[in-house]
Amino acid sequence: MFDKILIANRGEIALRVIRACREMGVASVAIHSTADEDAMHVRMADESVCIGPAPSSASYLSMPAIISACEITGAQAIHPGYGFLSENAGFVQMLEDHGITFIGPRAEHIRIMGDKITAKDTMKALGVPCVPGSEGGVDDVADAKKVASEIGYPVIIKATAGGGGRGMKVAQDEKGLEVAFRTARAEAKAAFGNPDVYIEKYLQKPRHIEIQVFGDGKGRAVHLGERDCSLQRRHQKVLEEAPGPAITEEQREHIGKVCAEAVAKIGYAGAGTIEFLFEDGEFYFIEMNTRLQVEHPVTEAIFGIDLVRQQIRVAAGEEMEFQQEDLSIRGHSIEVRINAEKVPGFSPCPGKISQYHAPGGLGVRMDSALYDGYSIPPYYDSLIGKLIVHGRDRPEALARLDRALGELIVDGIDTTVPLFRDLLQEPDIQSGNYSIHWLERWLDQKY
Ligand code: ADP
Repeated sequence: MFDKILIANRGEIALRVIRACREMGVASVAIHSTADEDAMHVRMADESVCIGPAPSSASYLSMPAIISACEITGAQAIHPGYGFLSENAGFVQMLEDHGITFIGPRAEHIRIMGDKITAKDTMKALGVPCVPGSEGGVDDVADAKKVASEIGYPVIIKATAGGGGRGMKVAQDEKGLEVAFRTARAEAKAAFGNPDVYIEKYLQKPRHIEIQVFGDGKGRAVHLGERDCSLQRRHQKVLEEAPGPAITEEQREHIGKVCAEAVAKIGYAGAGTIEFLFEDGEFYFIEMNTRLQVEHPVTEAIFGIDLVRQQIRVAAGEEMEFQQEDLSIRGHSIEVRINAEKVPGFSPCPGKISQYHAPGGLGVRMDSALYDGYSIPPYYDSLIGKLIVHGRDRPEALARLDRALGELIVDGIDTTVPLFRDLLQEPDIQSGNYSIHWLERWLDQKY
């Protein structure tokens, strides 16, 4: 096992990793920008290193600064969290060259899955069902029109380097295709420095269902069921739950097995998520994330497993602590993402927290780096906390979520808490009857 791990991240996820390290008897090193001197992850880690000024590009994304911090502190491994450098194959390669272990999959797997076209080709070859669409990229409008008329409208044009819901445009018919194609390419170039796009059939009312997988890097892999992340705004997740309210035991077994076998075959190491759209009983692969996800705690809750601990074990060359037959689901879990944003416009509102009180009690987990008097800096993601509840069944989890939201106090700034309290009153949320379009429609009507 490692003696010391550096966490190349900030906020709640840095705390999450520090906590796992401490339980494993591993020392932790925090890194931070000058804007994060007073941040909780800096206070909670065993050691900390300032690696640069406020902008992420000069700090949390600065590979030389992070590697130097490892060398100064003698950290043997890096946990990247999510976002920042967590899916950067070049970074993983650089760490390898410096003899530092990356807590995550091999560079090769990050590279394959980071390009959505090669990801789809690879998954298809591994027997994973995909959304119908272009074979590879689409280079010009004529080609786009040809593909779209073959698969049928509406279609969605997506950036091959895409992420965070950017670089996606829907075309309802041939008239709208040219504008959608050009806009998607321009957005992709601006956001990712790569204008390449591909085309998929645009599904009308799917759910977003993702399968958590975990591999030992030596050809053994398991799945930990699904998460339903259909409640989205601008293709960004807002609330996640597990198990999925619309998934049957048979469907879970089937798609879980397909996913576990696929990652076992490529020798995948650590945690990964295979994302699908689910419509009329069929799963369609859209992408794979080769890292721990924001919403991983709902899976941890229903399986009673610490995924970060397992990531660290596998990276250190130890065995996973379970096999497929040891894994069974207990109860229901829901997570809500608490952002420093003003509803309904969702404009970011960083600022000083005058009072913070976290909810507690049975089945309540609050992952947050907030504290009384903390000033949220304006430079980073607006996610300031995740409230995760676990109940014996879905109705109990929903009641617990409402109760816990009522206890939570975040004074001094606006947050998305009022949105969730409103959402919980909705019959469709109570019954689990929602697709990926439900939230945006509801927001339009409500506010
Ligand atoms: P990103 O990497 O930017 O998050 P994804 O490929 O994961 O992009 O898609 C994000 C979301 O966009 C999905 O959860 C879904 O809501 C929507 N989406 C993506 N592809 C399709 C499709 N073919 N049909 C309908 N909606 C889609």
